[in-house]
Amino acid sequence: MSDKWKEQTVAVAIDGPSGAGKSTIAKLLAKELQFIYVDTGALYRAIGYMALRRGISLQDAAGIEALLPDLRVEIRYMDGSQRVLVNGEDVSDKIRTPDVSMAASAVSSLPAVRRFLLDLQRDMAKTNNVIMDGRDIGTVVLPDARVKIFLTASAEVRARRRFEELKEKGVPTTYDEVLADMEKRDYDDSHRAAAPLKAAEDAILVDTSSLDLDGAVSAIKAVVEKALG
Ligand code: C5P
Repeated sequence: MSDKWKEQTVAVAIDGPSGAGKSTIAKLLAKELQFIYVDTGALYRAIGYMALRRGISLQDAAGIEALLPDLRVEIRYMDGSQRVLVNGEDVSDKIRTPDVSMAASAVSSLPAVRRFLLDLQRDMAKTNNVIMDGRDIGTVVLPDARVKIFLTASAEVRARRRFEELKEKGVPTTYDEVLADMEKRDYDDSHRAAAPLKAAEDAILVDTSSLDLDGAVSAIKAVVEKALG
């Protein structure tokens, strides 16, 4: 890889549905390229978590919007891994439950929430070389990203991977539950009016259904290296 891209900040956008392997792959690749990995889903999770904690109904758009001015959301890096803080409290470990996944998906459909988180995401990319993963990075947040990848896999494969992850963490759930939640989130994320999940026109599509982790990382790495020249 040449050093051309070091002259200015470079962004790699990885979008796609949950469980496609975005975060695992992006993290590994960021380490290798010495880019900063930005997990934007964690920001929506932090808002969803705060809504649940304050007892605001996820159907109450006005209530969620009214919560936003009270929230100071920050991204920090500790030992190379991303932490999300809300009003100074590190919520990173509390936002990984299935309830918070559903809450994140619900709050993420609100334009006010998306606007609220936009500058934070763009600022990260202004000052750092980033690999940013999410749903609308290539389409809305960083439309000029040097590399755009749309990572996907079948719903069954994604649910199986997510189920294994949750099981490892000791979160009580079943495969069927995870699959049903995933299908609902996929549907909601791709049918909402505000920044729906869809591939940017200039994104490169990568399907990881039949790839293991090493295979998926090599496939994405090849795409990124080619694009960065
Ligand atoms: O990626 P993750 O599963 O952590 O994202 C949680 C939820 O946040 C997603 O289901 C999606 O609704 C929302 N999200 C989003 N835009 C992003 C990242 C996540 O709408 N850029």
